[in-house]
Amino acid sequence: MSAMAGGKRSVEEHAAHVAKLLAAVRSGTRVRIPLSRALHRALAESLDAPIDLPPFRNSQMDGYAVDSASVATVPVTLTVRGVLAAGDGRAEHEPGTALKIMTGAPIPDGADAIVPVEDTEADKRAGTVTVHRTAPAGAYVREAGSDIRTGDPLLPAGTVLAARHIAALAAVGVTDVFVHARPRVAVISTGSELVPAGDALAPGKIYNSNGPALAASAIANGADVVSIDHSDDDPDGFAEMLAHAVAVADVVFTSGGVSRGDFEVVKDTLEPRGGEFLSVAMQPGGPQGTAVVDGIPVLAFPGNPVSALVSFEMFARPALREASGLPAVEYEDRPLTRDLTSISGKRQLLRGRRDGTGVAPASGHGSHLVAGMATADVLIDIPADTTSLKTGDLVKVIPL
Ligand code: AMP
Ligand code: MG
Repeated sequence: MSAMAGGKRSVEEHAAHVAKLLAAVRSGTRVRIPLSRALHRALAESLDAPIDLPPFRNSQMDGYAVDSASVATVPVTLTVRGVLAAGDGRAEHEPGTALKIMTGAPIPDGADAIVPVEDTEADKRAGTVTVHRTAPAGAYVREAGSDIRTGDPLLPAGTVLAARHIAALAAVGVTDVFVHARPRVAVISTGSELVPAGDALAPGKIYNSNGPALAASAIANGADVVSIDHSDDDPDGFAEMLAHAVAVADVVFTSGGVSRGDFEVVKDTLEPRGGEFLSVAMQPGGPQGTAVVDGIPVLAFPGNPVSALVSFEMFARPALREASGLPAVEYEDRPLTRDLTSISGKRQLLRGRRDGTGVAPASGHGSHLVAGMATADVLIDIPADTTSLKTGDLVKVIPL
């Protein structure tokens, strides 16, 4: 293979291979869901306003509805004929009089301006109001359709719904929306040394961080995690969990058991079933595996916590985001704020932290440095053939 680096598959080649495997993961499937559950989902339809906003002409202030001609010369005292509250229906204005009006109440037919209550003085006993400031036609009047008109475009397809979009949809009375289906993900972490948080940490044991981390990564990128399991390094248990995972999910992520030790449960189970286990020219995350089990793609990531997360970012994230209709993560070019060196022949993905407009490495190199990774907000992507970089050199960074 042309882009094989030192006998390994390049990151680009492996990414293309994984993209092909994941291409069918519910891409383009749409589902109709209630607006109350649509936050962070990608709209799979473009929506036009079904009504005008505001739906009717209403008052922007608590005050008095008048005709502007009657308040052209001030002060002027007008008879107050009644009160209009928010929620009231239509009313008629009589020229030369006033109706007290609350914010959001419909402007009475024939009135064309609102005098804010601050510019008036009421005489309750006399049933009059004295207006101290003129109000031109249109003052504090919110016209029907002044925000958006019936039929005008409200939100384009692809909008990732944030609170402000939910507000606009609710305002026009939308109850349900078509969104991109979330790919169903199953996560199986492996390793006899691992126990779940909450259990006692016996000698030789560590807490399982990849299970929670891969599930969180999947959710953060638009997926629905339908199953999380943990297998020890016993192939029978793993095979059982895998059978369940492929029955309920569109894609399965595993961690651990893919390299060259004595107990590589994922590799030992999947290789005889046509799985491919190889070394990708990257650091961290070199050992990678892929398989298709009962028609469902399985991505087998290495077990070191940093390797597992970097593998997810490089290979799984683009496909999950595409399937769930989320925009691709945008890479940035940033100047290094420190000199650094890199090994030849492997694409390095250093944990980095943005610092003003620049970026610096955060945490050390070790792929077990899971707490160190929590201090990073980007990966610094150093090409395989680059071995040294100086302060000020531009590097590509991948936001985490
Ligand atoms: P493996 O790829 O299974 O050989 O694991 C490589 C290293 O990552 C070992 O030190 C494991 O203990 C560690 N590791 C594997 N899986 C996990 C996990 N789910 N959570 C935390 N550490 C893990
Ligand atoms: Mg292991």
